[in-house]
Amino acid sequence: MRALTKEDQEKITPEKGLERLKEGNKRFVSNKMLDHTLLQQVNETSKGQNPFAVILSCIDSRTSSELIFDQGIGDIFNARVAGNIVNEDILGSMEFACKVAGSKLIVVLGHTSCGAIKGACDNVELGNLTVLLDKIKPSVEGVDYNGDKSSKNLEFVDMVAEENVRRTMGDIQSKSSTLKEMIQNREIGIVGGMYDVETGVVDFYEHSLQ
Ligand SMILES: [Zn+2]
Repeated sequence: MRALTKEDQEKITPEKGLERLKEGNKRFVSNKMLDHTLLQQVNETSKGQNPFAVILSCIDSRTSSELIFDQGIGDIFNARVAGNIVNEDILGSMEFACKVAGSKLIVVLGHTSCGAIKGACDNVELGNLTVLLDKIKPSVEGVDYNGDKSSKNLEFVDMVAEENVRRTMGDIQSKSSTLKEMIQNREIGIVGGMYDVETGVVDFYEHSLQ
C-alpha cells in the first residue's frame, strides 16, 4: 500500500472517507489487514502528509485508530484524550487537520466501558482529571434514565458514552467557527461512532453524518 498523495486526498469526499474507515474496520475484525509497508510509507510521506480524516478517540489502550481502522502512515490524524472530549487545543488541532492539511472527515469515536465516562458517572475527583471529567458531566446529566447511574451499570455507562459523542460533535461546531463553516459548505463532514471493546466493531452513527 502506498501512502496517500495530494491527488488521492482531493478525490476523497466525506462519504468516501467514511467508507474507507468502515472497510478498514471490517478488515480489522476479520483479521484481513492490508500490508501497509510502513517503512515505505515513511519514505513516501517524508516530504509531506495528506491524511483524509481526523479521528478524535479516547486514550484507552484498546482504541488506537490506526489499528482498529487498519490504516497506515500518513492516512489519518489521530487526536486522543480520555473521554474523547474537545478543548481549545484539540479544536485547534482539528482546524489544522482540515483547513491547512486538507482532511475531509472528522470522526468523534467513543467506546464501550470507557473509564473516563465511568469516572464522570461516579464523580471521581483526582488532580487534573477532575477538570477533564467535568467536561463529561453534562452528558451524564443529559441521559434520561431511571435506575442505577453509577459505573456499575454498564448499560447506563454506554448510554452516557453515546450522549458524550453527540455532545462533542455539537461542541466542535459551536466552538469552532472555522470547522462549522467548512461543514456547512460541505468541504468536510463530521460523524460520530462507537467502538465495542468486546468485538472490535465500530458502529458509526451514519445518520449523524453532516
Ligand atoms: Zn475511554
